Amino acid sequence: MKYAVLGDVHANIEALEAVLADASRCGAERYISTGDVVGYNANPVECMDRLAALGAGTVQGNHDHYAAGNQNLDYFNPVAADAIRWTQNQLNAEYRQRLAALPMTQQAADFTVVHSSLDAPEEWKYIFSPEEAAPSLLLQQTPLCFLGHTHRPVAFRMQGERIGCNPYETLKLKPGWKYLINAGSVGQPRDRDPRAAYVIYDDQKQTVSLHRVEYDIPAAQAKIRAAGLPEMDALRLAAGY
Ligand code: ZN
Repeated sequence: MKYAVLGDVHANIEALEAVLADASRCGAERYISTGDVVGYNANPVECMDRLAALGAGTVQGNHDHYAAGNQNLDYFNPVAADAIRWTQNQLNAEYRQRLAALPMTQQAADFTVVHSSLDAPEEWKYIFSPEEAAPSLLLQQTPLCFLGHTHRPVAFRMQGERIGCNPYETLKLKPGWKYLINAGSVGQPRDRDPRAAYVIYDDQKQTVSLHRVEYDIPAAQAKIRAAGLPEMDALRLAAGY
């Protein structure tokens, strides 16, 4: 079975459609989201509908969480908070309820999915380093776990008590090792590569491969501007940050 793992879609339907077309060509049969389906970009409802139609399993991201409710947005920087307020206004009660009901973690066949970290998923911590990955890897019950949140693809691996970290294109998973893999971001990559990122996990071959897909960035930027969303959200798509 080939799984397409979609991180941080962030309401970018242009990027999502390009990724889904690529995943279909690659033989993906199931779809998993690491959360943050909404926020920053202009098509939250369309992205939620598209993933729901695919039967994609989704965990809750911080943007999903805050867009679902009316909580204080002090946690966010002003640009992110503006986008969340805009997103809240796009979502009716049913869509907000769907976001509110998303689980913090999900376990599929032989892997786990979480948005930020396994040790405190509701604190929305960022994992950039092996030290920051350690608490999650120690708790991880499956050999493989996918996460998102930083919008930067990276693979952490633990053998015994040793934890390493590296960028990846295709990883062959080794028996007895644990892997915590950031699938990158479909809708707002931040690794200076503006192409949409997603992962294909092949559970037969035990491989995890990172895919990068070109999409219509000017169209996504035009929608952001037409919606009155922050200009920075448009500019960052072209720069990949
Ligand atoms: Zn995000």
